[in-house]
Amino acid sequence: MIVSAHAAAGAALGSIMKTKSYKDWALLVAAGVASHVVLDFVPYWYSDHPVFIAVDTALVFVIAGAIIYGTGRFYPVLVGAIAAAAQDIEHVLAEYSIFLEEAVFISHRPWFPRTILSPFWGLLIQAVFIVFVIWAAFRYKRPPKE
Ligand SMILES: [Zn+2]
Repeated sequence: MIVSAHAAAGAALGSIMKTKSYKDWALLVAAGVASHVVLDFVPYWYSDHPVFIAVDTALVFVIAGAIIYGTGRFYPVLVGAIAAAAQDIEHVLAEYSIFLEEAVFISHRPWFPRTILSPFWGLLIQAVFIVFVIWAAFRYKRPPKE
């Protein structure tokens, strides 16, 4: 999925999951990373166009910011969003840096089964998904100190 869909999912996890103990935080990070792999199985559409990437990146901050603002769970939402979306930074590194030849994260490997849909269906699926996880983040949010 696109970065903003990954970040929305991670932000929702941070809103919903417990963050009282270190174990809770570890579970949140693990769930965020796992969500990235699961969501890359979902058929979608994306573009390499700089405008698309800019809008997608801006949406990350709008969505995570809205969930932080609406739930008061700053660090859980931030950590969840980073754990779920930061893997996609390697696409940029693989493209522009000499240190990374190709993407290494499991769902970015060439053999990982990815299905790219038409722009209409690919974006519609992700838009519906993003709306759903934002709804879930607010519906099932925990108090800031849980
Ligand atoms: Zn990815």
